[in-house]
Amino acid sequence: MTLPAIDSEFLLSFLSGLLNTPSPTGLAEPAIAFTQQALTTFPGLSFKRTRKGALVATWAGEKSDAPRALTAHTDTLGAMVKQIKSNGRLLMTKIGGYAWNTVEGEGCTVYISSGRKVRGSILFELASSHVFSGKVNETKREDDNMEVRLDSRTFSAQETEALGIRLGDFISFYLRVEITNYFVRSRHLDDKAGVACLMAAVKALHQAGLKPAQTTYLHISNYEEVGHGAAAGIPAEANELLSVDMAAVGQGQTSDEFHATLCVKDSHGPYHHGLSQKLRQLADEHGIPYKVDIYPYYGSDGEAFWAAGGDAAVALIGPGVDASHNYERTHLDALVATTQWVVAYLLS
Ligand SMILES: [Zn+2]
Repeated sequence: MTLPAIDSEFLLSFLSGLLNTPSPTGLAEPAIAFTQQALTTFPGLSFKRTRKGALVATWAGEKSDAPRALTAHTDTLGAMVKQIKSNGRLLMTKIGGYAWNTVEGEGCTVYISSGRKVRGSILFELASSHVFSGKVNETKREDDNMEVRLDSRTFSAQETEALGIRLGDFISFYLRVEITNYFVRSRHLDDKAGVACLMAAVKALHQAGLKPAQTTYLHISNYEEVGHGAAAGIPAEANELLSVDMAAVGQGQTSDEFHATLCVKDSHGPYHHGLSQKLRQLADEHGIPYKVDIYPYYGSDGEAFWAAGGDAAVALIGPGVDASHNYERTHLDALVATTQWVVAYLLS
């Protein structure tokens, strides 16, 4: 059986729309809503929100004796205002795991509770080479020496408070999305790329007039980066859970930007062998370009589900993403391969 065609133009355009909808963990609702909106254009899906705010779409299959679930996450790394400094700038606390130097010099947005936004940038407090010379290079970046410089005339804590900024306000990073030669370069491809692959898979089946072989739940997660996204919301009747999340690319890894990867083990241990074997078989059968890999510092929503007591076979696939939790990059080849794999799984 040949797989239905993947609309790569649709995939890239949904992906760039989702990337441009900021959604740091804790403030992911706009990206969840954007995804739901896109899914509603396909008939046959019904929607539910969990109390925690995740989206669960139910897609009736040819059969429903062994339902399945897939998950991908819309939430991303970000920060929160920790303190307003006496010079009017902001100290931050990180949301998710990353190093400060990966966002140094980046534009950002502060979300004030009134709904207003203030733009700014993330800088080391001794930023100017002409003033601080060697210190700019030598000092380790820490929570207490990184700050937000606001694009507002504020030079005291009182002036910043007068803008409406308070401790606990969310901060998102500028993405710098660029698509060149089918490379997609952006922050937060983890895991908006995975969500886009699910979306393109839904479109491929619909366009071909097909239904999934089994009733399928699509869980769009909103708390993955802090470790508990899919701890809730996967329907108990799901026999299997396929987590679709980025593959870690770098020295010592088999993953790359041109393949989808099956992860057989990460920091939390091995994935389900039977389901992983089935995915390998499907990829071989359909000529899907894939790698098999182990990620040394990685956890997924599949494991969040397991740790919370979830009882289903769990496996993990995803597109190779270079420089993850940094200024990331992937290639259309990896996105299409991942989508094909999801399609093959849905139809199996
Ligand atoms: Zn992820």
